[in-house]
Amino acid sequence: MTRPAASRAVDVHALPAMLTALRLPSFHRHWSALAERADTQEWPAARFLAALAEIELAERDARRIQRHLQQSELPGGKTLATFDFKALPSVPRPRIEALAAGDWVETGANLIAIGNSGAGKTHLLCAIGHALVEAGKRVLYTRTTDLMQKLQAARRDLALEAALAKLDKFDLVILDDITYAQKDQAESSVLFELIARRYETRSLAITANQPFSAWDRVFPDQAVTVAAIDRLVHHSTILEMNVDSYRRRTALNRRTTEAVAEPATDNQNTQSDENQTARKEESDKLS
Ligand code: ADP
Ligand code: MG
Repeated sequence: MTRPAASRAVDVHALPAMLTALRLPSFHRHWSALAERADTQEWPAARFLAALAEIELAERDARRIQRHLQQSELPGGKTLATFDFKALPSVPRPRIEALAAGDWVETGANLIAIGNSGAGKTHLLCAIGHALVEAGKRVLYTRTTDLMQKLQAARRDLALEAALAKLDKFDLVILDDITYAQKDQAESSVLFELIARRYETRSLAITANQPFSAWDRVFPDQAVTVAAIDRLVHHSTILEMNVDSYRRRTALNRRTTEAVAEPATDNQNTQSDENQTARKEESDKLS
């Protein structure tokens, strides 16, 4: 039996190896500098140990969030920090911040963003997802069609149940562009099975370019469409995001700024008029 450390010489040189064996990387990284400080400032041993334990816990949290962010497959850069709230007057900032706080995820409620292309649906839902991961929740972002293909393959391998169970570990699954899913009998019913399985227990956040009335193109028939929408909206927040495309607005603003920044000479006046006409044409084309 190993003798208690107090009654024999302790091998300090073995400390790094012991900390690695104990899986305490932050202890490993910080103990030496902290020990020096503790010696100089004559900390009691308990304070030294508690300070190290605090660092280990804080860094463990940060590492876990980092790992969950990677596993979430959320696209980089689509966060609330880069979201221009003023560009979306139909959804006030406090409402978005409340969604990012995540109470709705605790009860398995859903979030549905419906609106035209470029309105910021993907950005907004990913930003909320990002905030939720940082608050300790598990989130998965996926294009609806990608997930459907995976679930369909799982069903062919008689492993659909296991694939759906694997998704249970995520508090929130973000299904991007649900209306791009093909009206394929098998694919669509795996989508229904996912919705039915998560109903009232695990959240879904969905983006759609089409209103509910057009969702029958996604599900095999009218009855399944009604059953799916019924479950989704029962406990849900629906964001109507029919605003001008953000991409288009920023492109137009950029050009207007450039035009203002370069005052036109007589010769350029004609060009500037032509630019304006081109802008108007482009704007009409995109509308
Ligand atoms: P949607 O999913 O509705 O088609 P996206 O979320 O993909 O639109 O937005 C299109 C582009 O515009 C993306 O690059 C996105 O980051 C940006 N964008 C949209 N809305 C905003 C916003 N309110 N603030 C900042 N960037 C935005
Ligand atoms: Mg999108």
